[in-house]
Amino acid sequence: MRDCRIAIPAAEPTLLTRMSQKRPERYRSFILTGAPGSGKGTQGAILGEIPRFYHFSMGDAFRSLDTRTEIGQEFVRYSSAGQLVPDELTVRFFRTQLDARADLHDFKPDIDILVLDGVPRNPSQAALMTEHLEVLHLFHLSCPNREQLITRLRKRALKSGRLDDASEEVIRHRIRTYEEETKELLEYYPAGMRTTIDADQPPVKVLADILRVVLANPDWIPSPAAH
Ligand code: ADP
Repeated sequence: MRDCRIAIPAAEPTLLTRMSQKRPERYRSFILTGAPGSGKGTQGAILGEIPRFYHFSMGDAFRSLDTRTEIGQEFVRYSSAGQLVPDELTVRFFRTQLDARADLHDFKPDIDILVLDGVPRNPSQAALMTEHLEVLHLFHLSCPNREQLITRLRKRALKSGRLDDASEEVIRHRIRTYEEETKELLEYYPAGMRTTIDADQPPVKVLADILRVVLANPDWIPSPAAH
């Protein structure tokens, strides 16, 4: 596990936090994992539109950081080289973000299921997160066609101006990082807790495959009373 010395101050209790519902200690979650460009963000955003599912993208949370802050600069440093942010910093930032969103009643941890996009990303993050997450299922968006991934990332670069999609070298490095670190994440969860989805398909079919698994588990379907 990589070392990290940046302190993120613990949030002070506020009137809002005191008003909030009693929070579960561990947030119920689905994990979306897959190589850069495999469509985690697309599927996460669609699923997050369904009432009682809450999409959280680790990459978007990092990108929303003020780059004048120390943690914002750390993010720029790692992501522009195609590297992951150190695990402990990532996990602390993750929890701070979710708690802040729960304080604002945007994310409602007592009734919402998290749809986690890009986090945890390796076994070490998964281990650090066991105290924060009750993982229900992991969806692996598999896209073995690397050239297709690179094409998708190049298109994304043109649209979004993302630093980490800017050069082919960085893109290839990110795919390698994924192959080394993220694939081990799959082994971290028992086979019954994960499903591989063919992410070379059109997005609507990928969505249908994910929903088929969700719908087969009545415990994961919010009751109408929770709407
Ligand atoms: P992609 O899936 O295309 O790699 P993301 O938007 O998920 O893109 O992530 C962008 C960058 O944010 C990553 O390259 C990395 O630097 C950082 N990042 C995102 N998620 C994590 C994570 N779980 N752990 C560490 N760094 C992360």
